[in-house]
Amino acid sequence: MKEIAQELRAARRILMSLHRQPDGDSIGSTLAIAMALRRLGQEVTVTSPDPVPHAYDFLPGVETIVPWRELGSAQFDLVALYDCADERRPGAPRPLRDYAPRILNVDHHATNSRFGDVVFVDPVAAASAELAYRTLELLGVTVDRDLALLLYVGLETDTGGFRYATTTPGSHRLAARLLDAGIEPGEVSELVYERQSVGGLRLLGLALDSLRLRPELSLAYFVLGDDAFAEAGATAQDAETIGIVDYARRLEGIEVAGLLRSDGPGEVKLSLRSKGQVNVAELAARIGGGGHERAAGATLMGDLAQAEEVLLGLFERR
Ligand code: 5GP
Ligand code: MN
Repeated sequence: MKEIAQELRAARRILMSLHRQPDGDSIGSTLAIAMALRRLGQEVTVTSPDPVPHAYDFLPGVETIVPWRELGSAQFDLVALYDCADERRPGAPRPLRDYAPRILNVDHHATNSRFGDVVFVDPVAAASAELAYRTLELLGVTVDRDLALLLYVGLETDTGGFRYATTTPGSHRLAARLLDAGIEPGEVSELVYERQSVGGLRLLGLALDSLRLRPELSLAYFVLGDDAFAEAGATAQDAETIGIVDYARRLEGIEVAGLLRSDGPGEVKLSLRSKGQVNVAELAARIGGGGHERAAGATLMGDLAQAEEVLLGLFERR
């Protein structure tokens, strides 16, 4: 981690990127590091392969994020990535090496491919925000309310509101420090969770109707095609922020919950959530995805029916 801080301090022009379909932890940890480095006088560009969901549009610094295509052939001293488990997650149009001679990879996913020149992976951390906080300490940057807000959103969302098994005493100690810095948990959760669209809620209704139960595989999953998105008037972002897959995990007797949803022509996004007996990161990795033991995902090529076969094949051979 000291080496990470040294690399960050030594670089003049730094490029950071969110991961595909950015979540609160990707956005929070990346923007926190970017904000801290800018305060130290460094030039930081933050890019993203996908737009920031509405749920996170209140975060300080989101307005500075530019799409990859705007970077053109710009050159940097360093690419610094937080929360990106492999080199495809930032969704860069060209290899990361084309942008800078050095690559930093800081992450908490056990499936991290260890790409890059300096790698720090701590799967015990509940969120990359915990690793970002440790970086800020080493950089000697004071965590004021703006930085605390970024870190808190990363930590709170990646721990499922401190409910997931990944939550440690360290997660709560960090939360306490962030509350000391002025965070109001009620205000933040209203901003993150209670500004959803009608389309998103209707999509949840259609997802609940689509429930497929395979008790012999301890599996329950939802299927959402393009027709469901059209009927609900919902976007892919709505599907992300409403937390659809979690509803299937609530079932008694089910170990793994899944969501298959169309994500553009010929692509299906799979999300998996486990109660703990089944390591879904390992299952997702078999089909080119990854994640955590209890929360993982993958992008599948083909239509929904083909993706469903892949999913069932995974569990039948488990
Ligand atoms: P979600 O289902 O919410 O998209 O993702 C759950 C977890 O799995 C997150 O930690 C996310 O980073 C990871 N994940 C989702 N999709 C992919 C993927 O295609 N590749 C990898 N390596 N990880 C993924
Ligand atoms: Mn994360």
